[in-house]
Amino acid sequence: MKIRALHTYHVAPRWLFLKIETDEGIAGWGEPVVEGRARTVEAAVHELGATLVGCDPMRINDHWQSMVRTHFYRGGAILMSAIAGIDQALWDIKGKALGAPVHQLLGGRVRDRIQVYSWVGGDRPADVVEQIHRLRAGGFDTFKLNGCEAMRMLDSVRAIDRAVSVPAQVRDAFGTEVDFGLDFHGRVALPMAKPLLRALEPLRPLFVEEPVLAEQAEHYPVLAAATSIPLAAGERMYTRQEFKQVLQRGGIAILQPDLSHAGGITECHKIAAMAEAYDVALAPHCPLGPIALAACLQLDFVAYNAVLQEQSMGIHYNQGAELLDYVVNKADFAVRDGHIEAWDKPGLGVEIDEERVRHAARHPPDWHNPQWRHADGSVAEW
Ligand SMILES: [Mg+2]
Repeated sequence: MKIRALHTYHVAPRWLFLKIETDEGIAGWGEPVVEGRARTVEAAVHELGATLVGCDPMRINDHWQSMVRTHFYRGGAILMSAIAGIDQALWDIKGKALGAPVHQLLGGRVRDRIQVYSWVGGDRPADVVEQIHRLRAGGFDTFKLNGCEAMRMLDSVRAIDRAVSVPAQVRDAFGTEVDFGLDFHGRVALPMAKPLLRALEPLRPLFVEEPVLAEQAEHYPVLAAATSIPLAAGERMYTRQEFKQVLQRGGIAILQPDLSHAGGITECHKIAAMAEAYDVALAPHCPLGPIALAACLQLDFVAYNAVLQEQSMGIHYNQGAELLDYVVNKADFAVRDGHIEAWDKPGLGVEIDEERVRHAARHPPDWHNPQWRHADGSVAEW
């Protein structure tokens, strides 16, 4: 079998899909994207993919090493996301060629289903109690919300009180019937991270995500020592080597690699094993589309330390298309009692409605994350 061509489709809401075709009629799908940088990643996919045409798609390990090591400059969000999507598509091809789901090829399942959580509250949290009531009716009992709005490096006690008030409403309304993680989203700098964590501690959040930016990861052990709240991070880390540093320094209890950013299934499988060696849990980041989610689920089913899977149904970013709009086998992604069950379709196990994808790609989206400013005119982290 030889790789014949790579096709990319930029579709609403903000996703990039990749289809790799072979000369034997088997095709694999991947999702190489950085949110807001789809076109940049698309260029990288075609640049890397040109060297794959004519090669045997089954040699995933060799292609992965070649895409990284034969290029002098490597790593980073763009290149590792391009490699991630190619890697996912190659695993999809391998599974389809061998008639086995990827989790089978990775050694077989350690669990039958994985707990998933739902986003609530959007960018500026409000009305979360009502949203949680609705989602609980659909079986969810675990949620994530943004931990705060824009936060200055040193902000007032009122900013802390505003941030605490939303999760406090959730605890008031639901007691311990629900769990929730809080995503600081890199909006909080070190001077505010400690007081904010301390103020949130009585509400017993399941975790706090990106308590400071990943590029300030040296502060994670300091913050972890100051709070009992488990700290999570990983969506803005792209290689085993970056995750190694974070694991060695300590402080992170839940690692959140993104299977569309951190080199795909091949790399994240290794990152998961490294985390297990440090007694660190895994909760793959995935506010993306169905192919990325399918790749995450394949890893969740084989990684012992996988505890929780993010997914984007109803997320505030999904303008113009929903998670399963391009999926034929929607029932396989059904959430029951807050879990997605393992299933045995070959490859990634996601059947893509190619007609719909082609149609959507005729009107590609132009998604960018909001650009925020503080009241004094300076740039705010989003
Ligand atoms: Mg996050």
